[in-house]
Amino acid sequence: MSKDTSADKSTGVEIKFSDLALDKALLKILDEVGYEKPSPIQAQTIPLLLEGRDIIGQAQTGTGKTAAFALPLINNLDLKQKDPQLLVLAPTRELAIQVAEAFQKYATYMKGFHVLPVYGGADYSGQIRALKRGVHVVVGTPGRVMDHIRKGTLKLGNLKALVLDEADEMLRMGFIDDVEWILEQTPDDRQIALFSATMPTQIRRIATKYLNEPEQITIKVKTATAETIRQRFWPVSGLHKLDALTRILEAEEFDGMIIFVRTKNSTVELADKLAARGYAAAALNGDIAQNQRERTIKNLKSGKVDIIVATDVAARGLDVERISHVVNYDVPHDTESYIHRIGRTGRAGREGDAILFVAPREKRMLNSIERATRKSIERMELPSTEVINDKRIDKFKQRITDTLANEDLALFSQLVEQYEQEHNVPSIEIAAALAQLLQGDIPLLLQNKPQRKSRDDWDREDRGRRDRPARDRSERSERERPPRRERQQRDTALDEGLDRYRIEVGHDHQVKPGNIVGAIANEADIESKYIGRISIYDDHSTVDLPEGMPKELLYTLKKVWVSGQQLKISLDDKGKKSKSEKPQSSDESSSDKRKPGKHHPVISRDKKKGQSSSDDKKGKLSLKKRVRKK
Ligand code: ADP
Ligand code: MG
Repeated sequence: MSKDTSADKSTGVEIKFSDLALDKALLKILDEVGYEKPSPIQAQTIPLLLEGRDIIGQAQTGTGKTAAFALPLINNLDLKQKDPQLLVLAPTRELAIQVAEAFQKYATYMKGFHVLPVYGGADYSGQIRALKRGVHVVVGTPGRVMDHIRKGTLKLGNLKALVLDEADEMLRMGFIDDVEWILEQTPDDRQIALFSATMPTQIRRIATKYLNEPEQITIKVKTATAETIRQRFWPVSGLHKLDALTRILEAEEFDGMIIFVRTKNSTVELADKLAARGYAAAALNGDIAQNQRERTIKNLKSGKVDIIVATDVAARGLDVERISHVVNYDVPHDTESYIHRIGRTGRAGREGDAILFVAPREKRMLNSIERATRKSIERMELPSTEVINDKRIDKFKQRITDTLANEDLALFSQLVEQYEQEHNVPSIEIAAALAQLLQGDIPLLLQNKPQRKSRDDWDREDRGRRDRPARDRSERSERERPPRRERQQRDTALDEGLDRYRIEVGHDHQVKPGNIVGAIANEADIESKYIGRISIYDDHSTVDLPEGMPKELLYTLKKVWVSGQQLKISLDDKGKKSKSEKPQSSDESSSDKRKPGKHHPVISRDKKKGQSSSDDKKGKLSLKKRVRKK
């Protein structure tokens, strides 16, 4: 079967998820999360792991390794059997949680599926209870996994498969002996998948010693970017990506633009948002019918459409002269797709611009790209409020000039003159009133400074990775943090201007307030300071959000995943009255930190023409008004 895969690759035949002999329940969720097709490592790894082969996968960050092992190994589980069948070792708690969440997500439609993350710093009792109840998959850091094996709370007798994720990272962090010890505790006939970005000799040694005729899969990287493309990156912090994009769109001189996102769903979402802001934008993804796709591309060529929001697949090979800018709104899977993406501009020696949004945790990808392309990518500053406002004022004046030049204004001149006489109001004031009418709810000018964190913040966050070893090491030496923060009861009264919502994720899912704030802030474009109190209960939580949340926004939030659960947000019917039920523990942030200010949230959901950005001051005040209008 591996032969087939490589043959397919060499003949350039597209592999689809549906070609991979995966359970229908898995194909269904893949379709829902909007993965268009397997990434290269997935296409090669999944068939082998399904067959029960051992593999060594060498590929960089962001290449989709989690799904590469999670999908086939979930597929091979016997859900009726309750002893752990699969153990995944990851170097840090963050990664362990991430991988466990991914498992939970991919197994959405696998009835009765259970995955448990185990890591230091969390108390044992919850983990032990869950292990007793029975889990199919355990994802853990080596130290804590060892502890559980020693305590007898984690039994590996029925283990079918073991994954070593980021093996080189585990080596670097000094976990290699632990990993080897754990390997020794597993049954001889278990399947092993080892993933690593690099292959130091110690990792090779482990592979040779423990893996059974492994197939090696290496995802190589092409390196060629045109000299004529100017490459910049924007460190994502503070401002939302959508606001940053809006600023860039307003300030950059562009002709045609292609914006890359990760999923099919995001192509549509983002294209809609841009259209609502007055841009001629269209989505392009593999689900869109061929003739419609061709029409979109024709529209881009002819100038009917200026911006295309696309997935990698849909935009492959796209050759449109007009494309002056490529924006990597979501970081690409690998350096190779970055090279493909930015190759959509600067064609045939023309000049082009490529902009990459990089979140702190994606900084490794930025480094990989720079290494692979052997070019440095310059850091860009977002256009300032002043620059944006100057542009807007120029545009406003230009509209007046154009209207004066091109339209017949006789009737309106007459009406203004009448009004002037009847009300004794100078025409300058009448003009101002008309301008306000024209502008509507959306302010002409941005009022806030971009809320960017300082450079230092972005750079500091980047150090996260290097900071982690210390924490995970302390886990090994059993220097645990106190089991849980002090449990302080908190007044659950609802502040004015807020509604209380219920979300279906709680302590049972190891959720932290930060996960909730992050998800809501990112998915709903609500600045975190406007997200009110969060109270976490066992199987659900409540969160206070500003009154008048638009329906479609709530709809979006229903589907958002946090700690492996969909939020399924709903108005908490106990709402304002609920004071009886007390949370069992409070969040980690102090309650006043989560107490929102007087303002309404800054929500950028404008269906109107015109360009508003969520940092428009007036925009937030008019949220309610706009909601009512719909
Ligand atoms: P790695 O472990 O190689 O660093 P991950 O498994 O964390 O990469 O995947 C990186 C991101 O890519 C995740 O957000 C994941 O949801 C997404 N992803 C994985 N596979 C696909 C796919 N086939 N299509 C689209 N997105 C994908
Ligand atoms: Mg990974």
